[in-house]
Amino acid sequence: MNSRELNDRAAWLRGPSAECSVVPERLEQPWRLVLLGPPGVGKGTQARLLTQRLGACHLSTGDVFREAKTRNERQQTLAMSAALNSMRRGTLVPEAIVWQVIRERASCLRCQGGFVLDGFPRTLAQAKVLKLLLENERLSLDAVVNYELPLAEIVSRLSGRRTCQSCKAIFHLTAQPPRTEGVCDLCCGALYQREDDRPEAITVRLDAYQSSTAPLIQFCRNLGLLTPVVASGSPEEIFRRTATALEKRRKFDSESSVTSRKSARVWSPEMLACCGNESGNGKNF
Ligand code: ADP
Repeated sequence: MNSRELNDRAAWLRGPSAECSVVPERLEQPWRLVLLGPPGVGKGTQARLLTQRLGACHLSTGDVFREAKTRNERQQTLAMSAALNSMRRGTLVPEAIVWQVIRERASCLRCQGGFVLDGFPRTLAQAKVLKLLLENERLSLDAVVNYELPLAEIVSRLSGRRTCQSCKAIFHLTAQPPRTEGVCDLCCGALYQREDDRPEAITVRLDAYQSSTAPLIQFCRNLGLLTPVVASGSPEEIFRRTATALEKRRKFDSESSVTSRKSARVWSPEMLACCGNESGNGKNF
């Protein structure tokens, strides 16, 4: 896996009228991944490393909402203000708003370099939306990476996390401090603490994860897509574990009958229905 120039994700962050500064190169076998795991497990950091090395685009729904926050109040739609309120509290953004954001940016799923979805899907209902979009585009996922970490470590990661206002790089006060306090090593932007990384919002986010997002794990296991990765250690260690797991997957895929495996990986209605029943969450559909 080589290092590649990152694009500014303009089409994803600002919507389809914006153009990405660097178009990812066309790949013969682009990676199409979903990252799962509780808040604070390091999905954002890993997504960044993965997109650098795989040439894919980092599609984070959280970043879309945070980007809206940087626009002045008059430019913010009612939907975006509602989304930002949910984020501040640590609750999930209402489904209709998420759906609108994704639908407007569906072309990013066709990115010729592939994609790393981070923060979407987050509920079984969103998984259904993704299923339809991918089916329409005749695309299939390569893997759903599920990052696992004990709760105590998650809380410590969230409360010490600092993010660059401008390039969105992620640091940690003790585990990965910036060279100069409060300043991004990469672009010299100002580092800030996300509102939803404050203690009152952390508990709400972990509850939302347990009730809405954790059921997706079984769903992805049923699809044969789940790739568990232990998320302890340094970002580079976790990245190496992820890369090894993905390479193993791809090797396995190319050795087995690709056609039949790929068709089994479409997010079929049967799978969605079955997962809804298993998790007791079928009402979401
Ligand atoms: P984390 O995974 O650390 O919680 P994210 O940046 O993915 O961070 O998300 C931050 C917040 O954005 C979430 O707590 C939620 O309010 C909102 N959000 C992001 N993606 C979604 C989504 N797919 N559905 C609902 N809310 C979302």
